[in-house]
Amino acid sequence: MSDTILRVQDIHKSFDGAGVLRGVSLEIREGEVVVIVGPSGCGKSTLLRCINGLETIDSGEIYLRDEKISGRTKDLHLVRQKIGMVFQSYDLFPHMKVMDNLLLGPTKALGRPKQDVEKDALEMLERVGLKEKAYALPRTLSGGQKQRVALVRAMLMRPEILLLDEITAALDPEMVSEVLNVVIDLARGGITMAIVTHEMRFAEAVADRVLFLEDGVILEEGKPEEFFHTPQTERARRFLQSFTYVSKRDQSEIQPKNNFGG
Ligand code: ADP
Ligand code: MG
Repeated sequence: MSDTILRVQDIHKSFDGAGVLRGVSLEIREGEVVVIVGPSGCGKSTLLRCINGLETIDSGEIYLRDEKISGRTKDLHLVRQKIGMVFQSYDLFPHMKVMDNLLLGPTKALGRPKQDVEKDALEMLERVGLKEKAYALPRTLSGGQKQRVALVRAMLMRPEILLLDEITAALDPEMVSEVLNVVIDLARGGITMAIVTHEMRFAEAVADRVLFLEDGVILEEGKPEEFFHTPQTERARRFLQSFTYVSKRDQSEIQPKNNFGG
């Protein structure tokens, strides 16, 4: 009945006795884009990895729609199909053409007919400006192009929610905006997302809500215009000040466009 897609309830996670997530709760509604920012090592990746079951949690609960997904082992692959994730490093199979990389999940895991998926894949590749690379090998693509393919691959699984973990962090600066523009397109098209990023201008442009994670707890939460301009805590103020230079660059590079059907 609710339009809540994801509910994380008081989760805790330790590594070797060190509390990395120390009681994190959050909810993401359908179509909402939540950006998670915070200093390196504060637990952002761990949080995303716990959400899609790559890490087990010590306590707390995680729900997708109204279904509890934490603490499950048997059918974890079914849960993961509904939660798309893209990481910093593109992990396309190098010996397989872009199209074969894209066909793999939807045909094998979802059992969709190849022709249907191929048609969808070509359409999406065109939207991200890569139709001409459909039958190329990954090594002929730039880093930015590979990340756009990775986004298409995740979307072809038709996930309930997409988790993005610093997907531009390994890219040369000139490729960052071409990838972030695709994410902005997805956001405008109504895709539900949780995004970890250090690109603050992008974060402000794309977020419906911002969470500031610090030392395993959500220290601040707010609308982007509030968080980025009038942060409530001294810690968030200091964190944001360290990005002043970067944000100027981003502002000139990112040109929101809307060709993802929204
Ligand atoms: P962030 O993504 O915010 O930079 P992470 O979630 O990657 O932070 O890491 C948070 C903390 O947890 C760090 O201190 C990191 O060293 C530790 N950590 C993450 N994964 C593991 C792991 N598999 N084993 C041990 N420690 C880990
Ligand atoms: Mg990380």
